[in-house]
Order: sequence, then structure tokens, then C-alpha cells
Amino acid sequence: MSPEMVSRDITRGGEFLIKETAAADVFIPEEINEDQKMIVQMARDFIETKIFPNDTRIEIQEPGLAVELIEEAGELGLLGASIPEEYGGYGKDLVTAVFLTAATGDAGSLAVSMSAHTGIGTLPILYFGTEEQKKKYLPRLASGELKASYCLTEPGSGSDALAAKTTAVLSSDGKFWIINGQKMWITNGGFADIFIVFAKINGEQFSAFIVEAATAGVSRGEEEHKMGIKGSSTRQIFFEDVTIPLENLLGEPGKGHLIAFNILNIGRLKLSAATVGGGKRMSTVAIQHANQREQFKQPIAAFGAIKYKLAEQAIRLFAVESALYRTASDIENLKKDLLEEGKPYHEALMRAAEEYAIECALLKVQGSEMVDYVVDETVQIYGGIGFSEEYLPARAYRDARINRIFEGTNEINRLLSIDMLLKRALKGRLDLMSHATAIQKELMSVPEFSDDDDDDYAYEKKVLKNMKKALLMTAGAAVQKLSMSLENEQEIIMNAADMLGEIYISESFLLRVEKLQQLDINVSLYHSMLKVYLHDAVIRLEIAGRNAIESFADGDEMKMLLMGLKRYTKLEPFNCKVVRRNVAEKLCAENKYCF
Ligand SMILES: Cc1cc2nc3c(=O)[nH]c(=O)nc-3n(C[C@H](O)[C@H](O)[C@H](O)COP(=O)(O)OP(=O)(O)OC[C@H]3O[C@@H](n4cnc5c(N)ncnc54)[C@H](O)[C@@H]3O)c2cc1C
Repeated sequence: MSPEMVSRDITRGGEFLIKETAAADVFIPEEINEDQKMIVQMARDFIETKIFPNDTRIEIQEPGLAVELIEEAGELGLLGASIPEEYGGYGKDLVTAVFLTAATGDAGSLAVSMSAHTGIGTLPILYFGTEEQKKKYLPRLASGELKASYCLTEPGSGSDALAAKTTAVLSSDGKFWIINGQKMWITNGGFADIFIVFAKINGEQFSAFIVEAATAGVSRGEEEHKMGIKGSSTRQIFFEDVTIPLENLLGEPGKGHLIAFNILNIGRLKLSAATVGGGKRMSTVAIQHANQREQFKQPIAAFGAIKYKLAEQAIRLFAVESALYRTASDIENLKKDLLEEGKPYHEALMRAAEEYAIECALLKVQGSEMVDYVVDETVQIYGGIGFSEEYLPARAYRDARINRIFEGTNEINRLLSIDMLLKRALKGRLDLMSHATAIQKELMSVPEFSDDDDDDYAYEKKVLKNMKKALLMTAGAAVQKLSMSLENEQEIIMNAADMLGEIYISESFLLRVEKLQQLDINVSLYHSMLKVYLHDAVIRLEIAGRNAIESFADGDEMKMLLMGLKRYTKLEPFNCKVVRRNVAEKLCAENKYCF
């Protein structure tokens, strides 16, 4: 049977909270195929020969350099992976695109420029463009001849993107759109040829348009002076009576929000791929420094305090990476199913990405916070020179920080993940209620102590099941108590989102280790890493749950919920120190990130 023929029990978006997924049904990065390996290698060659040696020139935005490098990437085919062959691309699937994004994720500013071009700049046309728009723009975007930008944010509207003030009105002869407004923080703003511009038709219908930069009335502001990703171009873009053809409306009038938000789902997934790629380089840099730097007559890698950091970097990276490929492949598989059902290409892609929007939001948050941890500890492992601009960690530290801000801030993504979950429950798409009710009943009963499961992962599965129960119990009680006013209690929603994130990442880690074992790979170290991750994830989940419960419940209800939380966050004692030491020793022996 070919891999495509294997029947899968699909876990739909958000369903991971109430359903068990079989390891056989998830994709793990170790399953990379030959074609994907070749693409990754090509990307690595490009980054190592063209980007790393030019880091300093890129950082000061040497005129013309970013454009030249983006065009070279285009010639190599690195910009057209997601674009179908009929439009000049390579028609690769989402999993391959994620491998590629991760492989270029350590390219700092240039990675941001390239991903703004291939992602938010190009995908609106690919997903929502008419046949004519696709034929006109996609081949030149795939080759890098045209560079693209995405203009959503304005001085007065960032997180509240739909409050945009930019307008589009029909010309008096009805033949053109006339666009007026101002956009802010536009990546690639200094050199883009194409702008995807969000504007309100007659100040009301939020819509998207393709605006060519050469059109009269389009002007660019000065480069922003940024904390990080200094080598990427970020500018304001002004539109003054910009007249564009009618056919440059993208999608339907008044449906711009579908474009803006759906594109961001894939954007968030790819952002987490970039954090994995960037994080691996910083982990390697930290390991190499720890191996060669001596203090007290020994390499600092010999110290337990440093071993802890090296191991923790690797464990957190491995965890996010597990969830990243699981989600990418879930989206890709659903897209294929929808195509088989006869759905048009763009609809299949959009619906598949929308289905896993909760997972994409969680990945964005978890990936960006993971990479911040990794770069922060790399600076620390470097000591004083970590604080020097002459060494890589300082720049990586500054560069990483943006990930928590763009593609929807982490606060907005946390809010969204819970909002989407609850809306799906209300619409009957996710049966959260009956699970929450079953847990309430269980809380009144005597706990079961039977532990006769001979599954190698019985303990981890039980821990995970309990994590899910802890969230369902906490969120269920919060919804019951606060009902509609829950939306005014953002602190509780943040707690719930943190719990949800811990669950998704932990489960993905577990499934990856199980699948590695199914593939006959020796998993003893991975299994121990999983135990360490779960150990701390449960503790973090307990803190978030406690904060939530204590802020909405009181009296007997609070006591009962806290007892429930204790029951569902019970951990067997486990010596995490020994595992972290083993992990660090393996990393130091390999002298690089090696998982
Ligand atoms: C380097 C860089 C590149 C960028 N590239 C692009 C680009 O190419 N195209 C583009 O369109 N935009 C781009 N952006 C803009 C980016 O997407 C926005 O900065 C981001 O969405 C946040 O909007 P804001 O800056 O207006 O912050 P605000 O929305 O003002 O948010 C400020 C703070 O308030 C919080 N907040 C806001 N609303 C809520 C709420 N309802 N509940 C709780 N907390 C809330 C936020 O989480 C944040 O912490 C870029 C930004 C930067 C810095």
C-alpha cells in the first residue's frame, strides 16, 4: 500500500483536546523524503554561501543587496515552492514548504524578507486571485522578478486590523478604484513592486487590492529604525489618489477579512517553522561556545548550570518542532481530501488552513516564546561577549523578539485560540460540553488507581489525558460561571490558552517519540526528554490552572476545582537533572544541535 493509501483517523482542528491521536497518523520530520532533503540542502547551500558571509552587509541594508539576494533565491527556485507549476512554481506541498522555511529560518533579516515575499505577499494572489491575476503575477513572484509586500497595519490600526482607515472608491466613470490611506510597518516596503493593500470600499467594506508600486500616488516612507531584523526593509507606504484598474480587486468586495485572516493562519505556521530553524542555529552556537570556552580550568560545558541550559534549549526546540510538522501535515492531508472531493484549489487550501487555525495560533505563540528562550540562554552562555554586537547571539537576541509581535501579537493569538475553541463548541463542531460534564462527574467519584496498561507510554498518556481534563474542568467551570462576561476576563483566557498550548505541544512530542519507536529508531534518550518536557509542562499547566481558578471561583467551588487540579496534575517523581545532563553531553559530543 502506498503511504497515500493508508487510511488515517483524522483529528480535526481543536479536537486534540478531546480525542486521542494515534502516532501512526501524525507526520514527523524524520519522515522527510528525498525530494524534501534535496530542497533543504539547496536552501542550506544558499544560506551558508550567500547569506552568512554577507550578514554585516545585509544588516546595514547595503543598497540593492537584499533585492539581489532575493532574486538569486528566486533563480534557485526557493521562492516558488508553494506556487503550482502552471504559474511558474514548483507545486510543492505545505510540509515541503515548512521544511524549506525552517531551513532558511536562521537567515535573520533576509529570512524575514523572503518569507514576507513568499508568504503574506504572494499567497493572497495564489489563494484568492482570479485566473488572470494569477497568470499575471505569480510567475514573476516565483522567479523573484517581482517582490511583494502585505499592507494591513496602519498607524491607528494594528491588532484591530478591521479598523483600517484606508479607503477605496470607484472613479466617477466606474472604471477604476481610487485608493487613499497610509500603511505602517510594511516589510519589504523599501523595494516591493507589488503591494497587497487592505482598504475599505466607501469607508465600509473591508477589501483587498493588488497595487503596483509604480502607480502614480504610491510613495514610501523612510526606513524604520528597528531593535532587530535591521537588515529587513520596513517602511510606511502612502497612497494618495492611487488609481488602479477594477480587476485589481482581490477576492470579493467586503471579504478582505477572509484574506487577511486566512493568510495569517499559514503565516503563523511558517513563523513557527522559522523559529525552529533559527533556534537550532542558536543552540549549535551555544554548544560550540560552551565546548571551547574554559573557566576554572575546564570547558564551561562541564558545569551543570550550563548543561541545564543546553539541554533545555534542545528539548523545547524538539517539542515545538514536533507540533509544527504534525500541524503542517494535518493541513496538507485535509487539503488533499478536499481536492479529491472536487473543491477548487484555493478553497481546499483555505478551508484546510482554517480548520487548523487554533493549532497555527498555538504554534505561533509557542514557537516565538521557545526561540526567545533559546536566544536568551545563548547570550547567557556567551557571558560578556554575548552582550557584544561583534558576536552572533546579540543580533539573534534582538532579531528573535519581533516574532512575539507580528503575525498577530501573542496576546491576540492566545485570545484567538480560546475564542475559536469556544465558538466551535457553541456551533457543535467540537463536543467540549459533554467532556467537561463527564469530568465534573468524575470529580465526585473516587479516583481509579489501576495501572495495568503495558503500553510503553502508558504513564505519559495518562499524564496527558489528565492535562486535558485539567483544562476542560477549569475552562468548563469558567464558562459556566462567567458566561458572556468571560471575554472581559482576559487573564483567565490567557491562562486557558497557556494550558491549551502546553497540551498540544506535549502531545505532539509524545506522538513523535512513539512514531520514532514505530520506525525502529532507538528512542531511549527521546523518551527521557519527553518525560522532562512533560514534567515541567504539567507544572506550568498547574500554575496557569490555579491562577485561573482562584480568579473566578470561590468557596466550596474553588476548593473542589483546586482539588481536581491537584488530581489531574499529579506527577511521579522524576530525576530531570540526570536526563538533562545526558542530553547536554550528547549535544556537546556532537558539537551541534543533533535531535
Ligand atoms: C518589524 C515589523 C514588521 C512588520 N511587518 C508587517 C507587514 O509586512 N505588514 C503588515 O501589515 N504589518 C506588519 N507589521 C505590523 C504588526 O503586524 C503589528 O505591529 C502587530 O499586529 C501589532 O499591532 P500594533 O503594533 O498596532 O500594536 P497594538 O495593536 O497597538 O498592540 C499593542 C499591545 O496591546 C495588545 N493588545 C492589542 N489589542 C488587544 C486586545 N484586544 N486584547 C489584549 N491585548 C491587546 C497587543 O497584544 C500588544 O501587546 C510589522 C511590525 C513590525 C514591528
